[in-house]
Amino acid sequence: MKVAILPIGNELLDGRVLDTNSKFLGGELAALGAETVCLLTVPDDLACIVDSLKFSSKRADFIIITGGLGPTSDDLTREAVSEFTNSKLIKHESLVEEIKAFFSKRGREFHPSNEKQALLPEGSTIIPNTLGTAPGFITKKDSLSIVALPGVPSELEPMWRDFVVPLIKPIKEQYVLGFKTYNLPESVVAGCIPDLEDVRVGYRAQFPEITVKIAGFNKEKVLRAFKIAKDSVGADAIFTEDINQSLPDLFKNSKKTITVAESCTGGLLGKLLTDLPGASRYFLGGVIAYSNELKKSLLGVETVDQFGAVSSETAMAMAKGVKGKADVGVSITGIAGPDGGTPEKPVGTFYIGIATKDDLKAHHFLYKGADRARIRKAAAYEALNILRKIVL
Ligand code: ATP
Ligand code: MG
Repeated sequence: MKVAILPIGNELLDGRVLDTNSKFLGGELAALGAETVCLLTVPDDLACIVDSLKFSSKRADFIIITGGLGPTSDDLTREAVSEFTNSKLIKHESLVEEIKAFFSKRGREFHPSNEKQALLPEGSTIIPNTLGTAPGFITKKDSLSIVALPGVPSELEPMWRDFVVPLIKPIKEQYVLGFKTYNLPESVVAGCIPDLEDVRVGYRAQFPEITVKIAGFNKEKVLRAFKIAKDSVGADAIFTEDINQSLPDLFKNSKKTITVAESCTGGLLGKLLTDLPGASRYFLGGVIAYSNELKKSLLGVETVDQFGAVSSETAMAMAKGVKGKADVGVSITGIAGPDGGTPEKPVGTFYIGIATKDDLKAHHFLYKGADRARIRKAAAYEALNILRKIVL
């Protein structure tokens, strides 16, 4: 099935509103195995909408319009579909009653302009909207189906799921498997996965995570390709086989308790570890010790004068100092820049200290050429990546 998505509205073109409906619909369609052949963002202009319908009808057999179903003069979806399909707009008295009831239930006055929302191209089927006043509709022109949904995302999403998805379901089922790797350049990940037959391999980099997605219509081939891809990347680099999961999400399964001592990340690691509800099961707390003075007084660090605040010795001392009754004490100390680097310890240098009952060590990293935000994010995620191997 080939699909065109037509989001309508001047607000989408002039930067006032981010077109999240297309992101939503594109993702849903891909998961259903439909092919989105074009996405045209169209202003509130009758001729433009009609032209876009003509353009899309040459490429797709299913058009999804979002927006332009409101009661105002710039809401032109009904008029455009009516012109394109050569059908009259018909007023549905049942819809007038429903819209009136919607207003009265909320203690709001019905304005005659809302009657416009009860007009639909002749031959359309109504898609009810229980959350707003703009009903959607579906109509046909020869073998082409046109679906119109309101622009408001919270109204569009349930209407899509309840009424449109069942129409799309009969297409061939697609199998999707994937995994996420941590901090390998996208090109390196892609480079180690060979060309795989009859499956599509997609890569998405969202620093510091890279998602590899394998999709196809033959279940066995997808499974085989998935295994080959996993083996080529290596188990150590793969932190999840649930592509909706991010690295911090894994910690909900932590079997051990954690404390953190942060310097250059200013609490980011603690924040990431406590984003999920239930974090108190494994996260005992942390110390943000930015100054040397606090590193000494709160964490008992005595290495600063001899080795410097940014050193493996200080990272280990911080981790040891914060561990307390936790299973693991983790520390981060580094130079996020833009100033403060030296030839021996340039901006982007950081150390992660790990203290457990039996072990005390530090890991050294250098994120050369990265800006402050990226270095801090990298430091927090590197710490999570080391931690996951200890606590999961
Ligand atoms: P309504 O009855 O609410 O007027 P409508 O179908 O006419 O429904 P629009 O007027 O086009 O919808 O849009 C209403 C609001 O919905 C917009 O102001 C915008 O905030 C949001 N919206 C519209 N289109 C999109 C989109 N593609 N992505 C995200 N939000 C959108
Ligand atoms: Mg609009």
